[in-house]
Amino acid sequence: MKLRLHAFEAASRANGPGVRAVLWTQGCSLGCVGCFNPETHDGGGGEELDVEALVGRVRRLAGGIAGVTVSGGEPLQQARPVMEFLRRVRAETGLSALLFTGFTWDEVARMPEAAGIAGCVDVLIAGRFEAARRRATGLCGSANKEVRFFSARYGPADLAGVPVAEAWIEAGGEVRVSGIDPPALRDRRA
Ligand code: SF4
Repeated sequence: MKLRLHAFEAASRANGPGVRAVLWTQGCSLGCVGCFNPETHDGGGGEELDVEALVGRVRRLAGGIAGVTVSGGEPLQQARPVMEFLRRVRAETGLSALLFTGFTWDEVARMPEAAGIAGCVDVLIAGRFEAARRRATGLCGSANKEVRFFSARYGPADLAGVPVAEAWIEAGGEVRVSGIDPPALRDRRA
């Protein structure tokens, strides 16, 4: 089964509690005004990878990370491969899993492909980004976001402690930023 991927990061601290591998899926048609990741919207962009290969990457990292985070793009517009990935990560590594989606919890609950989500995801952060209600803390981009804890692994204090942004400086000098509030880094540099 194939999943269209925008990016993969092996060690992030700003996408959930602890050090986490992060998958950003490619493709989103939800159209939130003010989205920070417009480069992830094109459903024909990114690269197609086997779920098996992605699970393998996570298996190799498993001793050094607390869990995986799946973000986007809109992960649940690829619900079958994303759920397959999450089920296998849970079964084969026991790592924690955090999933961001722009769909509301009510919409997710009606998706047949997302059945069983509570069995392989510890934290779901659901809902469109609403710029007028921008919050950018505790992994919630805006105040309308709904956080569902499906296990006892994490609670609100764990999310509140996640850094709002992080940056990587590549060998060629390119700077990549991530997190719920990357502009915070630009503000700090200014
Ligand atoms: S769901 Fe996420 S990726 Fe899609 S437009 Fe909204 S904020 Fe952007």
